[in-house]
Amino acid sequence: MDLRLLRKAELHVHLEGSVRPETLREIDPARTLEEIHARYQYEDFMGFLMAYKWVNLHLTEPAHYALITRRLIEDLVRQGVVYAEIIVSVGVMLWRKQEFAPIFDAIATEAERGAIPVRFSFDAARQFGVELGGAGGGVGCGVARARRGGIRHWGR
Ligand SMILES: [Zn+2]
Repeated sequence: MDLRLLRKAELHVHLEGSVRPETLREIDPARTLEEIHARYQYEDFMGFLMAYKWVNLHLTEPAHYALITRRLIEDLVRQGVVYAEIIVSVGVMLWRKQEFAPIFDAIATEAERGAIPVRFSFDAARQFGVELGGAGGGVGCGVARARRGGIRHWGR
């Protein structure tokens, strides 16, 4: 059996964690792919979090979120995914003082254009608070706190 040929559901993928180096280069063409690949290298969980943060800092406008949504859905379709639940790091956006509504509008609009049905789950690290209720389009709300050695999810 070739797993690549099976129809699949993606039930746990973080939008901001799905950004390929090539997509980041589309957002920031001044950087080289080599430089970006180097930033994606890490040896432990804290290194991963720093890489994740570095990627997030490049996402400064709704169009960036639309682009990473488009590229993620394209990747999923190539992998045979026919349904996806995508986690959006609302807590990071709020912590960065970004305006969530226009960003999510861009994400949702892009998802509607995609070839597969997509639902969203909003994620916030516990230290950022949980005042996210009422945001539209979500199927759940994940709350986690970064800890040395891992993230503990709760309340999902
Ligand atoms: Zn997760």
